[in-house]
Amino acid sequence: MKLVAVLGGGPAGAFAAERLAAGGMKTVLLDDKLAWEKPCGGALTYKAYEKYPFLLHNDVPKRLVTLTQLAAPGAGATSLKLREPMVIYSRYELNRMLLARAERAGARVEKERVLALSRAGSRWRLATKHGALEADFCVVATGAQNGLRGVGTLLTPADTMLALGYYVPEEQEHVDIQFLPQLEGYIWVFPRCGHLSIGICGRGEPAQKLRARLEAYMQERGISWKNGSFYSHVLPSLAKPAWRHNRLAGQGWIAVGDAGGLVDPITGEGLYYAIRSGDLASQVVLSDAHAPEDKPHAYRALLQRDFAANLEFGSALGRRLFRDNFLFASVPKRMVQFMRQSPRFHELMQDLFAGTQGYLDLKARLLRNLHGTMLETVMNFLLSRVVPGET
Ligand SMILES: Cc1cc2nc3c(=O)[nH]c(=O)nc-3n(C[C@H](O)[C@H](O)[C@H](O)COP(=O)(O)OP(=O)(O)OC[C@H]3O[C@@H](n4cnc5c(N)ncnc54)[C@H](O)[C@@H]3O)c2cc1C
Repeated sequence: MKLVAVLGGGPAGAFAAERLAAGGMKTVLLDDKLAWEKPCGGALTYKAYEKYPFLLHNDVPKRLVTLTQLAAPGAGATSLKLREPMVIYSRYELNRMLLARAERAGARVEKERVLALSRAGSRWRLATKHGALEADFCVVATGAQNGLRGVGTLLTPADTMLALGYYVPEEQEHVDIQFLPQLEGYIWVFPRCGHLSIGICGRGEPAQKLRARLEAYMQERGISWKNGSFYSHVLPSLAKPAWRHNRLAGQGWIAVGDAGGLVDPITGEGLYYAIRSGDLASQVVLSDAHAPEDKPHAYRALLQRDFAANLEFGSALGRRLFRDNFLFASVPKRMVQFMRQSPRFHELMQDLFAGTQGYLDLKARLLRNLHGTMLETVMNFLLSRVVPGET
């Protein structure tokens, strides 16, 4: 391969370009916006900066948050102290840092929109706004609204959530997560440097209804959206069957990040998976162990082993987690109650928020701890009823 073209310069594309260039590959990255405030919460879990410490250790403005308030209808709110902070960036700053790293590693970074892709023998011909370019291999990193036909995941309505919200010029120290009645999704409030990113994501509900839910919540909390700026975007959230026929790679191309549907279908966390898939894709592209025709298969296998099997399992859990009942109350309500009453359950939630507790072994851990959790819950419930001095 003489030249790899990376289409899109969000976290997935920028990191793939960095790794490819650092590995000695002649790399060009094309993005029509380069660094921009892509609609996003901007939160990174411990899992992300444990794997890629530069995400924490840098001088780019960001917030480190160690307290979360979780709330569910009928259960009120409870605090979750994070063992490791959540790191929250503005997307402009995060993208800018990642693009600068790609450039420093040797990638050519160009502000350019790719309009179409076509095969020219064993090479690619890229039509761009200002001309054309030939490349031997394409890394497709064009995000959830990928407009390039023939490459990347085909997202059906069943494979997406809608996410929208406001950036408002206010301050707070902690993260808020609010579950809502009959919604497969949630509201978040993420403090960033100088503003809050407040948003809602949900599956199967029209944008207007989601926006009304969010504004009702903000009104209740006394947060005005009048001075804020509104954002909305599609969030990949693959249904279980989609993981099996997900169009992740083909002859001469590999899709990374949102363009490959690689987002946690429950939480909507996509930044880690964008960066991780960019890393894995670059390993496959650079590797001499795979002939060009074997690279798509090698990439799928690597993703599956690394995180895709976990996310696929998460797809089966999502609806049950948000909408089912457990012990005659909604699961989110029980979750908040258990967190309040059971140190074991509290610990499990800390691990989920850190990203160190996967979905594949969640059931086993819950079952292992169920007896203890229930016992702690009952004991704490009884003790809270026994107020000293009262009979
Ligand atoms: C409202 C919202 C909140 C979110 N909050 C979080 C969060 O807090 N934490 C988290 O982990 N994840 C969050 N996510 C998910 C996260 O934003 C995405 O998973 C992540 O941005 C994916 O990165 P990416 O590089 O794959 O795609 P993107 O960040 O979308 O980057 C794609 C890039 O490709 C460029 N592009 C597109 N088409 C072309 C073209 N034809 N030619 C050239 N360039 C092109 C675009 O300009 C863009 O820069 C959120 C998503 C939404 C919608």
